[in-house]
Amino acid sequence: MLRTSRFCNRLVTGARLTFLPLTVQASRTVIEIRGVGKTYHTPTGAFQALRGVDLEIAKGEIFGIIGRSGAGKSTLLRMINLLERPSTGRVLVEGTDVTDLDGELLRRLRQRVGIIFQHFNLLNSKTVQENVRLPLRVAGELERPAQDRRVAEMLELVGLARHAVKYPLQLSGGERQRVGIARALANGPHILLCDEATSALDPETTQSILQLLLQINQRLALTIVLITHGMDVIRAVADRVAILDHGTVVESGKVVEVFLNPRNSVTRALLAESGIESEAEVTTDAGDGSQVLRITYHGPLAERPLLTAMSRESGLDFAILQASVGRLKGVPYGRLTIKTPPLEQDGLQRLLQALDAQGIRHEVLR
Ligand code: ADP
Repeated sequence: MLRTSRFCNRLVTGARLTFLPLTVQASRTVIEIRGVGKTYHTPTGAFQALRGVDLEIAKGEIFGIIGRSGAGKSTLLRMINLLERPSTGRVLVEGTDVTDLDGELLRRLRQRVGIIFQHFNLLNSKTVQENVRLPLRVAGELERPAQDRRVAEMLELVGLARHAVKYPLQLSGGERQRVGIARALANGPHILLCDEATSALDPETTQSILQLLLQINQRLALTIVLITHGMDVIRAVADRVAILDHGTVVESGKVVEVFLNPRNSVTRALLAESGIESEAEVTTDAGDGSQVLRITYHGPLAERPLLTAMSRESGLDFAILQASVGRLKGVPYGRLTIKTPPLEQDGLQRLLQALDAQGIRHEVLR
């Protein structure tokens, strides 16, 4: 919608500021969590770990679930392969309601949904290749030579071909998690669940495992659902994220949008703890009518000289108090805290309308 103010029209017609809408691609839902609740019955009484959780996860995306310890992340993740059963609600995987599966059907579900764990859960008495072979033996669908080929292929994929006959305890933490990934992928699942898969690893190893997850997501078109308490993990790999707090989803959306415009206090706190959101000191009012604004934008807008154009078109000079620019999974973004010169109320309104017209989100901080 075009606004009528002179200032806005000039901005709207400014060639370099033309707003380009992002293309929205249709996605196919592979995991649907509908109204899921979980109550644990303990000696001290009933405890509600999840309540009314709704999520839809699309084919091929990396979906992150983040929250503090005890938020219910692990319980929720494990419902996708029925390591936990919901007390209420339904879980659908690739269109099939899996909530009540058992026996052979449950075993087949687990072949389609692989899982890796924080502490790898390998059998230390078996070699690397025997660990990876295990799910193939359980499935019983391949003869031994075909199993050998699949094991070799999986070890190649995770970069461990030369460690095939070693034992887990002879490997580093990162290598053990690679074995975990090879084992989880052996039966060709469509979905991979990651239960705090990098929490036991140092930062460098974490990055190498996250890069591996990105590669297999792209090469195998695998849907990945990961839980973590670290925003840096979400930032490195996830397309979308849900924030879980006390058993409820308090916020969800595309990572770039949630990072740029966190709405919930828990999200803001998690971002601040990871050093991703650190606000400039803006609480003191200079008393001269100057305003402090936070503006955020992403996509094509982030590749334009927005501030220069805003300044030229409005005749106002802005001081940058804080700036964060970069890319999240290839999407450029900017988040700026700027101070205006002293403005009358209508001057501020014109500025905000101009930002609206360009699709630049804004918040008046002072
Ligand atoms: P997170 O993964 O976010 O740390 P969990 O899903 O592991 O959270 O746990 C959520 C809550 O449910 C915690 O308070 C935990 O103590 C409780 N809980 C988890 N599993 C059980 C269980 N088997 N019996 C009783 N309480 C449990």
